[in-house]
Amino acid sequence: MDEIEKLKSENEKLRETNATKTDLISVSAHQLRTSLSALKWILKMFIDKDLGKMSAEQEGFIEKAYDSNERMIALVNKLLTLNHTGENSTVLNIEKIDLLKTIEQILFEFSGETFNRGIELTLLKPDKLPLINCDKDMIRVIIQNLVENAIKYSFPHGKIFISIRNRKDSDEIEISVHDNGIGISKENSKNIFNKFFRATNAIKKEGTGSGLGLFTTKNLVEQHKGKIWFESEPNNGTTFFVTLPIN
Ligand code: ADP
Repeated sequence: MDEIEKLKSENEKLRETNATKTDLISVSAHQLRTSLSALKWILKMFIDKDLGKMSAEQEGFIEKAYDSNERMIALVNKLLTLNHTGENSTVLNIEKIDLLKTIEQILFEFSGETFNRGIELTLLKPDKLPLINCDKDMIRVIIQNLVENAIKYSFPHGKIFISIRNRKDSDEIEISVHDNGIGISKENSKNIFNKFFRATNAIKKEGTGSGLGLFTTKNLVEQHKGKIWFESEPNNGTTFFVTLPIN
């Protein structure tokens, strides 16, 4: 009996240490991301020439710094989501947020990428949307992942539509991300949310990718008691749908 009690107490201690570590990673990653985001805006101001003209050499260096900062942000996002979707995921930090504003910010962050690829990004939004209860950082990750995929798997000069609406039949918000890109075949459809899965047409189009984006996105949507699904036609495009409860 004593032995069992001892094991139980040791197990509890390990669980606590693990939870503390998970929280510590989350807090550090959040702080790191805040600093990186601040840096991003400053570099963007230089690139947009808001702070005056630069020589070609200066411009080149600033662009390199911007790209490397973007990669760091992507890495921190991944760290955050993996940390959240582990077995001992931390409790979501639920607050009331203006989803429309969050989506507009994210789309703005992608404007350089879409411009480079000649892709048109359009937001179809309602006049009014209620505030929703969710973890703002995690919602950002969900939307970033879907928009990033739509961009990555679009053909040059593709068109992407992001729409957001308040479903009248339920207390839910529905977000959809539509692209007219490479699409997903029927046989790959069942694997699309699996950890590390990447379809052959996706690997051919974009060499880099982890196959972790949709796995973590689904996990985060479900942690919010929402749903995620998609409709697709190979070579014709894909639409991902996410519903999130308002409360
Ligand atoms: P990654 O993009 O890093 O490969 P994800 O987990 O985000 O990983 O996506 C998993 C796979 O789902 C992709 O490799 C691709 O095969 C498919 N996929 C996701 N989004 C799209 C899309 N918009 N169009 C076509 N295929 C997609």
